[in-house]
Amino acid sequence: MLTTDLEITVHKLAPEQLKEKPDQQSLGFGQYFTDHMFVMHWSRERGWYDAKIHPYQDFAIDPAAMVFHYGQAIFEGMKAYRSKGGETLLFRPESNLERMNKSAVRMCMPRLPVDRMLQAIKALVYLDREWIPTAPGATLYLRPTMIATEPALGLRPSQEYIFFILASPVGAYYAEGFNPVKIYVEDTYVRAVPGGVGEAKTAGNYAASVKALTEAQQKGFSQVLWLDALEHKYIEEVGTSNAFFVINGELTTPPLGGTILPGITRDSVLQLARDWGLQVNERMLSIDEVIAAAEDGSLQEVFSSGTAAVISPLGELNYKGKSVLVNGGSTGPIAQRLFDELQAIQFGEQEDPHNWMVRVA
Ligand SMILES: *Cc1c(COP(=O)(O)O)cnc(C)c1O
Repeated sequence: MLTTDLEITVHKLAPEQLKEKPDQQSLGFGQYFTDHMFVMHWSRERGWYDAKIHPYQDFAIDPAAMVFHYGQAIFEGMKAYRSKGGETLLFRPESNLERMNKSAVRMCMPRLPVDRMLQAIKALVYLDREWIPTAPGATLYLRPTMIATEPALGLRPSQEYIFFILASPVGAYYAEGFNPVKIYVEDTYVRAVPGGVGEAKTAGNYAASVKALTEAQQKGFSQVLWLDALEHKYIEEVGTSNAFFVINGELTTPPLGGTILPGITRDSVLQLARDWGLQVNERMLSIDEVIAAAEDGSLQEVFSSGTAAVISPLGELNYKGKSVLVNGGSTGPIAQRLFDELQAIQFGEQEDPHNWMVRVA
């Protein structure tokens, strides 16, 4: 079957079957799911088939499905926004779909038809549009996911997959304003190695990172800052977000060298900063350089970027038992401006100079 012929069928719940919506003040992150979901199947013989939006429900999956044993699983994270004028907007959705296709290639999984999947996302968001929160900063988080479902224990690429999209109303990450967090610079565990799968949004990367996160949290930190796997020297990422440093007025972030997730927020931050005329550098940056800059006063800001929080200011770094404060532990002006402008563009409150926003309805 040609994927361009792919029909998306819709099975809607009747109005009296719709779930009760959660209280908008206590949404948190990823705890509630909307009334419907998108599901599509792939096999070697048929390609993608059976594309459906249907009520949110369990899967029946063979316990021998390859995803349970060898972890062939990839995902994306993106959001739908409700503007004050009542429009429903998506932020750079094709970028997420294209990145998912890169993850798919790395994991020997089938590529998605980007145009059709954008239609699927729009159709799901439109059908469940009543679930998009209206509280300031709150959004509908979307989780496209692909898993290997062929029941077989020999190690090779699965010949069957399911692709699905869940939608989850989430609260504003910083409902009470920014609260810069304390970060543990991880010098034992590593996230990704050169030649590995660090640049793919694949499930195993997150499974592998949980121990470092848990140990950092037990020590009182909210996230880890990952260093490179070979020398434990160069900055890579912060938890599941990209790392930025303002040193002597210049914005610096590690380059995309294969071990770093190419964040769409990262790319947007770089574009906005260039628009403003800031000096922007994508280069390797060692933890020693950052600590030295903190000590001589040239380190002005540290923050991270990702879809969930947009921008997270980092107020303190702990490296080998020693803490350095960043900007006196408060949010710096560049982090604040990036957060404000990105959110204003995403919620349709400010001009969108790069045509990032896609209207659903
Ligand atoms: C998803 C993710 C990011 C951020 O990507 P965005 O597209 O900005 O949400 C950064 N690092 C890791 C490891 C991620 O999984």
